[in-house]
Amino acid sequence: MAQAHILGYPRIGANRELKKAQEAYWRGDTPQQQLLQVGAEIRRSNWQAQSDAGLDLVTVGDFAWYDQVLNHSLMFGVVADRFSEGAAGNKLDQYFRLARGRAPSGQPVAASAMTKWFDTNYHYLVPEFSAGQVFSLDSEWLLEEVREAQAQGHKAKPVVIGPLTYLWLGRGVDNALSLLPGLLPCYAKLLSQLADLGVEWVQVDEPILGLDLPDEWRSAFNSAYEELRTASGNLNLLLATYFSPLRENLNLAFSLSVEGVHIDCVRAPEELNTAVKHTGEKQVLSVGVVNGRNIWRADLEKWQRTLKPLVEKLGDRLWISASCSLLHSPVDLNTEVTLSVEQKQKLAYSRQKLTELAQLQQLLKQNISAVADNPKHDGQSCPVAEQLQGTWRGQRYLERAPVQAERWQLPLLPTTTIGSFPQTDLLRKVRRQHRNGEISEGDYLDHLRAEIAEAIRRQEILGLDVLVHGEAERNDMVEYFGEQLDGFVHTGNGWVQSYGSRCVKPPIIFGDISRPQAMTVEWSSYAQSLTNKPVKGMLTGPVTILNWSFPREDIHRSESCLQIAKALREEVLDLEAAGIGIIQIDEPALREGVPLRKSGHTDYFSWAVGCFRYTCSEVKAETQIHTHMCYSNFNAIMDAIVSLDADVITIESARSDLRLLTAFADRSDGYPNEIGPGVYDIHSPNVPERAELVDRLKKIAEVVPVERLWVNPDCGLKTRSWAEVGSSLLNMVEAARAVRSELA
Ligand code: GLN
Ligand code: ZN
Repeated sequence: MAQAHILGYPRIGANRELKKAQEAYWRGDTPQQQLLQVGAEIRRSNWQAQSDAGLDLVTVGDFAWYDQVLNHSLMFGVVADRFSEGAAGNKLDQYFRLARGRAPSGQPVAASAMTKWFDTNYHYLVPEFSAGQVFSLDSEWLLEEVREAQAQGHKAKPVVIGPLTYLWLGRGVDNALSLLPGLLPCYAKLLSQLADLGVEWVQVDEPILGLDLPDEWRSAFNSAYEELRTASGNLNLLLATYFSPLRENLNLAFSLSVEGVHIDCVRAPEELNTAVKHTGEKQVLSVGVVNGRNIWRADLEKWQRTLKPLVEKLGDRLWISASCSLLHSPVDLNTEVTLSVEQKQKLAYSRQKLTELAQLQQLLKQNISAVADNPKHDGQSCPVAEQLQGTWRGQRYLERAPVQAERWQLPLLPTTTIGSFPQTDLLRKVRRQHRNGEISEGDYLDHLRAEIAEAIRRQEILGLDVLVHGEAERNDMVEYFGEQLDGFVHTGNGWVQSYGSRCVKPPIIFGDISRPQAMTVEWSSYAQSLTNKPVKGMLTGPVTILNWSFPREDIHRSESCLQIAKALREEVLDLEAAGIGIIQIDEPALREGVPLRKSGHTDYFSWAVGCFRYTCSEVKAETQIHTHMCYSNFNAIMDAIVSLDADVITIESARSDLRLLTAFADRSDGYPNEIGPGVYDIHSPNVPERAELVDRLKKIAEVVPVERLWVNPDCGLKTRSWAEVGSSLLNMVEAARAVRSELA
């Protein structure tokens, strides 16, 4: 009989209790004891949910006060000097200092770097290794949680990130693999401690087995797991892989000294049969069939048919699970009040996924005739390729540029911003009142108009060249469009952790997408009516809208993307017709949809870039299309960026020391279009000095030809205050003027 388990459960609480408790603690509003209680209650209820659903094991160690990778860094003594000089103090406080950037003295220091966990929207804190890194083991937190679960009557299966994946995720040394011999004894000791607690199974996550790994990393697996096996006595190791097919690493995974292997059958259904063949005589095969990355109900009958023959073959060595940790799914559909009954019938959040696993387990017990249908591989090839063919703008950039220069008459080094202006307390309050029906629609719109007028007034005084309306009407750059397009559904409580206490609530693409009416034209036209300077129209691009939503599973992602692109093209043309001649189409999430394996890149980029280009394929040559992206490592997607063929791209670069710009300049053909590298970091409250900006601009001008150079901040300004924004932009505009006149 198949056993059911999960790889991990969300830790935010059904109503984001952890977020509220953390933030109250950070503000100093509640004692630590209270925060500890909230955490313990979330763990208790998560374990109880697994046990109530009927799962055979309860997963422990998936809880984190901020981030599971940071848990490991503290467990193994990976703490950069700036966090450990001075009095260490309370352990949880030290943990939060690493996450949030505080020295033991309380002084702000650089926080641990944060980056995306594989291809998810979850951000982990990057381990910072040092040359001569020494590891030590402090596992008390994990051991205590295991005891806690056992005391509550559960059969605990602790989860840890495997040693190879942990090292892979870190930075700071040239060859992280060289740290492995020093790290393994800590893992060995940890496993023996867990064995002493009577634990039978430990889940060891090695998702890097789904990546294109260098050979030295692949070969390190064998001896590493041999060493862990020796140390772990009677303990069984379940090697968990997810997010990606294993391919050339499949054989490797099953040949390791582990008692079980988990594979992601949602991302790689085509590997199921091969995996069965490779499963050793005593090994467990755990199949992830319930999608941990999406909110649709699983097709249990289909999995029943597929898995039935495997049950006959593997018996209780077949385990069923979700594809990956449920960390990436919202918590409980029962807390949803905004969705209709019909909508809810199609959905499953984490809690419902537990039930699905239990139901599947029951179905597998039933004696149905086993019709093995080959699991369908949804394939990577893009069904809309043909429709995207030839949907390019008529003229090439070099032909468009002079027409645009003639129309806009912008100075050298034109100044602009990325779109949003401060979302003030007042604006947030008015938005809340509007949502709760406390103020009339008319009053709300009046308020938004006043915000826009104020933004225009300030930009004119500052002397910026290309203005924006400020996005006062948007709470979120995807939600705003999702709410106006047909085909999207918005949840009330579908929160998923993004990092630390921050959660996001992605909309659901529920059906075909279309645009019933214009979405931004009124706001942009209003803003343009207030000034003689050009106002940029501001849209979120199709790929970003897709990548920040829960996608459909019945059609290929590219099909939804093209539907969004069609809707946006209508919007672009409406803006153009209304006299908005500069239009920015933001694609900050272009990189997020990139497949983890190189072999899938060409296909993804062809449709993602194709859909972006589709949105502006019919605009006139004189209309200037901008795009914006904000992450600092562009090397992998450079070709895609070039082929977007936006007239102007504004990009984050203030924190990356021109490295990024060299990536543009180093291309053999150069980067042919215009580029606005962010000249200051908007994530920090610091106001950049004028001299510093002049300096920076001159450095940039050595890499990017000045005729194609724009001057702008790194990203939108919505999280900043007007006081900071006013001074920063003034310095920016003055710096641009200074460099301009020097060049003239
Ligand atoms: N136009 C958006 C803004 O300024 C862009 C946000 C983003 O890049 N994430 O807020
Ligand atoms: Zn940005």
